[in-house]
Amino acid sequence: MKNIINLFTCFLFFITIGYSQEGNQKFDEDKLLNRLEILSSDKFEGRRTGEKGNDLARAYIIKEFKSLNVSGFNGKYEHPFSFDSRVGKFNANNILVEIKGTDYPNKYIVVSAHHDHLGISGDLIYNGADDDASGVAALFAFAEYLKQNPPKHSVILAAFDAEELGLRGAKYFVEKMKDSDILVNINMDMISRSSKNELYVVGGRYNKALENLVKAHENPTNTKLLVGHDGSDEKDDWTYASDHGPFHRAKIPFLYFGNEDHAAYHKPTDVFADITPDFYKNAVGIILSVFLDLDTKGL
Ligand SMILES: [Zn+2]
Repeated sequence: MKNIINLFTCFLFFITIGYSQEGNQKFDEDKLLNRLEILSSDKFEGRRTGEKGNDLARAYIIKEFKSLNVSGFNGKYEHPFSFDSRVGKFNANNILVEIKGTDYPNKYIVVSAHHDHLGISGDLIYNGADDDASGVAALFAFAEYLKQNPPKHSVILAAFDAEELGLRGAKYFVEKMKDSDILVNINMDMISRSSKNELYVVGGRYNKALENLVKAHENPTNTKLLVGHDGSDEKDDWTYASDHGPFHRAKIPFLYFGNEDHAAYHKPTDVFADITPDFYKNAVGIILSVFLDLDTKGL
């Protein structure tokens, strides 16, 4: 009998180890990395707004959302807009999908990332693996999870365009949605690369309930989640640094997740080969778990 119990204990031990080695995230970690690799490949030529690489990347993003069975927002995936800038007129496209909420279908949580980057300069491709293919690939992880586990609030997964040209896609979206009830924006920009294994969260400072929610959040990983870069410390203030900026201006609560600028920031060396895979998987795990706290508890 004793031997049988020992054998059973060994078996339990074995399956526990086996489980943790495989990872215990709520999404497919291999697919997360694979999609990031594809999005930041040379094929998409740095995804610059208005150029061929951006068109190809958009087609890939829509194909992935379709294969995950998520529907376009208001019946369509592409939401075109145009704007004038110092360097001319641009036609751009946000990609928006929606997962209907079970309890609060008219209240939205907007989870965002930007699909554009800097394109090509001379013969150098700016692949933008961390900035922000990492955020867009994370949107698919959210889609995977939410199709299996419908949220209470309606969720819009937004791949914004023309962030690099002045947060244009997010500005257009916020203006279009001004009569809608947006509970919060969760923005992800540069979440795949950290030698220090540190992810920053910005935005709690501007909303007491959000601040408390972040404080009470139980981090499911060994990656550090740090509050900072929000104007309360000596570090660069990221309050308007990415697509959460227009939400904040419109007084919509936001949480922005990102890593500290690295040597490859806005350089052709921001490539898939140099991301930090474990950090990236953990970052997405953290952001998803903060999202779940928000969806469960509200604000
Ligand atoms: Zn970015």
